[in-house]
Amino acid sequence: MSGHLKVVASNTPPVKHDHLDLVLSNDKVLRLNDTRRFGAVLWQAKGEVHPLLAALGPEPLTEDFSAQTLIDACAKRSAAIKLVLMDNKVVVGIGNIYANEALFKAGILPTAPANTVSPDKLALLSTVVKETLAAAIVQGGTTLKDFSQADGKPGYFKQQLLVYGRGNQPCLQCQQPLSEIKLGQRTTVYCSLCQR
Ligand SMILES: [Zn+2]
Repeated sequence: MSGHLKVVASNTPPVKHDHLDLVLSNDKVLRLNDTRRFGAVLWQAKGEVHPLLAALGPEPLTEDFSAQTLIDACAKRSAAIKLVLMDNKVVVGIGNIYANEALFKAGILPTAPANTVSPDKLALLSTVVKETLAAAIVQGGTTLKDFSQADGKPGYFKQQLLVYGRGNQPCLQCQQPLSEIKLGQRTTVYCSLCQR
């Protein structure tokens, strides 16, 4: 959350909150700037799995994350589907913004108990998650107030967000005002007509 990775020339002087340089072979460094110190840098030897990574679920853009992944994860859980989707033990890397967006696109109510969501909808959700993340990567990540791309330009995804940041504004599908609640202490925006 809110950290930066930048590729800069190796002689670029560090600034406040620059914590780590990984020296690359092209006279550049991959530099970590982490104002709020939420980040961690872990190293693991080939063939080993760091204990902090051992319990993590698959990456969403790999084949290891599929409809069946979600169906299995939701089968016995009555927690809200949004919380399951953001659980790193189920699948990693789906943050709050993308969870909101994916659930809207899949037409699933964020507060629905996971074990009540139909397998068809979970299959659609797994597809939508991949599409949403892939689109975000192409468009440069989500614009937060302190986010920038590696080249310092702002990300552009916020301009295309369908629900996140749009609480009480009209749903883009049905025009009804979007609802905004806290779920697991995270801002959750949804359409009570389009999401069931
Ligand atoms: Zn709607």
